[in-house]
Amino acid sequence: MARSKIPVRSVLGGSRGIGAAIVRRFKADGARVAFTYAGSHNAAEQLARETGSTAFRTDSADRDAVIARVRDSGPLDVLVVNAGIALFGDPLEQDPDEVDRLIRINVNAPYHAAVEAARTMPAGGRIIVIGSVNGDRCPFPGLAAYSLSKSPLQGLARGLARDFGSRGITVNVVQPGPIDTDMNPANGPHADVVKATMVMKRHGRPEEVAGMVAWLAGPEAGFVTGAMHTIDGGFAA
Ligand code: NDP
Repeated sequence: MARSKIPVRSVLGGSRGIGAAIVRRFKADGARVAFTYAGSHNAAEQLARETGSTAFRTDSADRDAVIARVRDSGPLDVLVVNAGIALFGDPLEQDPDEVDRLIRINVNAPYHAAVEAARTMPAGGRIIVIGSVNGDRCPFPGLAAYSLSKSPLQGLARGLARDFGSRGITVNVVQPGPIDTDMNPANGPHADVVKATMVMKRHGRPEEVAGMVAWLAGPEAGFVTGAMHTIDGGFAA
């Protein structure tokens, strides 16, 4: 009897937070999973051991390293680009090098990774990028650089969906609102201000975002492409 092929999935930025939840979910769904990380070696090793996935240290700020990592993964059924950093504060005080690094990680890496993955991705493939509700809405001062780094992912999804759609590859962006991770802890100093703007008066859980990603990665989402999928507890309502 023919055995069904085990899907191959890669998560860029999978050692912690939302990315780690996606790695766990993909493994639970029966995929072969590899993920990247930059600084969190111990967390990455532990997650790899726990889930039977493979961890690679690849800095998303390094374009050529990202492209090489995706190329060396071989044909992927699913690529998730989750790696991202935040940079909040007064734009007049921000270090321009830090802003440019943010853009390399949050914008350039997703684009180059998506294009590289598409070279060998089979029909039915999925490219999913983790954006942010701040790509649509910027309700507080101090968010400009971060917001700027998430809106371009919308153009990425719309454009690459058109470029690769004829091959049966979908391209989507998941846009979380406040999610309880190291980047945005539910008990952090700004949590109350953030909750005041939300319908659901709580941070989301990484597993809730992973659930949306799992659906987009699965067979039911084959008609969904070039689209943004907001999961934000009503932050943008
Ligand atoms: P965390 O800071 O908790 O985790 C970030 C993950 O990305 C880690 O695995 C980290 O690896 C990895 N990463 C960061 N920089 C790099 C890099 N240069 N190269 C490779 N990997 C890197 O963040 P979240 O889980 O909260 O965020 C994940 C994504 O979701 C980001 O794109 C973020 O912008 C987005 N998002 C988060 C929201 C939130 O409220 N939490 C809201 C909206 C969007 P390492 O551990 O090695 O540093």
